Amino acid sequence: MVNLKQSKPLLIDTPFEQWQLKGLPSYRNKQIREWIYEKGILDFEKMSNLSLGLREDLKKEWDLMPMELSREQGSEDTTQKFLWKLRDGQLIESVLIPATEGTKGVRASRLTLCVSTQVGCALGCKFCASGLDGLKRNLTTGEIIGQILIARAKAGRRIDNLVFMGMGEPLANLPAMIPALDQILSPDGLGIGARHITLSTSGLVPKILELAKYPAQIRLAISLHGGDNRTREQIMPINKRYPIEELIDACERFIEERKKMITLEYILIKGINDDLGQAILLARHARRLNAKVNLIPYNKVEGMKWERPELSQINAFRSQVEKENAPRVTLRMEKGHDIDAACGQLRLRETVESC
Ligand code: SAH
Ligand code: SF4
Repeated sequence: MVNLKQSKPLLIDTPFEQWQLKGLPSYRNKQIREWIYEKGILDFEKMSNLSLGLREDLKKEWDLMPMELSREQGSEDTTQKFLWKLRDGQLIESVLIPATEGTKGVRASRLTLCVSTQVGCALGCKFCASGLDGLKRNLTTGEIIGQILIARAKAGRRIDNLVFMGMGEPLANLPAMIPALDQILSPDGLGIGARHITLSTSGLVPKILELAKYPAQIRLAISLHGGDNRTREQIMPINKRYPIEELIDACERFIEERKKMITLEYILIKGINDDLGQAILLARHARRLNAKVNLIPYNKVEGMKWERPELSQINAFRSQVEKENAPRVTLRMEKGHDIDAACGQLRLRETVESC
């Protein structure tokens, strides 16, 4: 049983380059780092090449386990969703997604983990379960990395791709995100390449420009969800602060700086943003930015009025975007539709059920 009390600092909140563990020699630091980042061991007692006394001393001073598993849904061959309880009792989620739905017994070749960055979200997009109760708090660096370490250990294999599309707005938590990214990218840390990491943002313009300066070539996805201000504004309050023109300008500057394609995410909500006029506008933005378009039919959230469009409308929308010469269009049917895979939904269920 994990001790949820927060009496001690969490070791993985501190980047390992900065560890000052009781003045230990560097080879000891290296051993501890390897246990944690390479082997995924989050328990000092299991670090068998450290003396018992040292393990005890470390245990007295540091916590290693950022969270415990509160609920698990799905299976290894399909989408697997984890609900984590943090040390202060707050709940977050991560989703493990195989690249291809495996038939029973066959392991998929690529594994993607969808990671949370905040407890709740302050941005209150009208369709999203994560923002329902506002922002509770930012995740710490260790809580971001912990999701990956524990999910990887549970999967028993390396994680190929990371998408920061779980609960929260990653760009609203850059002070914890940047050191987390450093540790994720480092060959001495998790060793995941920048090309395999995507941050998704609802469009925090100044933070997009800040991220453009980050040295590694991580990928950026923009949650657009509307082709013009009127449409976007009715579902995304952030659009009032950073209207579409400013957002597209910021994307352009990001691309200039990075020489890298970005993705425009577009969830399709029945009667709200799924008319073909929006498809034309979306394609226009995509052409200007030479961006990929990822269409995601809305995943219904219990208690919310929004609906997924009929399949015929989804297909018509996609065809229209293609006809308008958007550089690349994909349609992502949510794999986890049946297990509440959209962000915030599992936590929402837990909250509802425990009321
Ligand atoms: N805050 C960031 C990242 C987390 S949300 C952002 O908004 O980009 C990740 C993606 O999930 C966003 O594109 C978001 O709009 C989408 N999303 C949220 N609720 C959804 C739902 N019920 N169905 C489908 N996609 C959803
Ligand atoms: Fe926050 Fe993203 Fe949900 Fe909007 S879609 S409320 S930004 S988590």
